[in-house]
Amino acid sequence: MSDDCILGPCEGMAHAGVTDTDSYRDVHRKVIASKGQVEYEDQDQKRAYINHGRWVVDCPKCNGAGLTSRTIKVACCFDCGSVYTTVSFPRNAKKIEDVLLRRTDEASRNWTTESIKELLEENKIHGVSDGVD
Ligand SMILES: [Zn+2]
Repeated sequence: MSDDCILGPCEGMAHAGVTDTDSYRDVHRKVIASKGQVEYEDQDQKRAYINHGRWVVDCPKCNGAGLTSRTIKVACCFDCGSVYTTVSFPRNAKKIEDVLLRRTDEASRNWTTESIKELLEENKIHGVSDGVD
């Protein structure tokens, strides 16, 4: 599957018309407004991590989470209206994605703090051969 990737807002919310940061924010604003809420920008630095094949940021305000990606770089929480505008990614994010994408089961594509070496070890447990790149 050539379009296999770690999912972000563009993939996870394509049905809503999200193609970039602006459209992501627009869709979020409309959904939040439709619930009678207002969006709230939070500039505190938030760490992105990978959960079930998606880049996400935890929302401490409601214990929810919002999708993000290396290109979108913001995370919107559709539960409480928060928008996290300062999202940090690991320097080796692309490499982490590459290693996780070798796992066929999306639910096993998870990363929080593991090193590449640790992820490769986990790949063996998941039955992924790392002989060929
Ligand atoms: Zn929230």
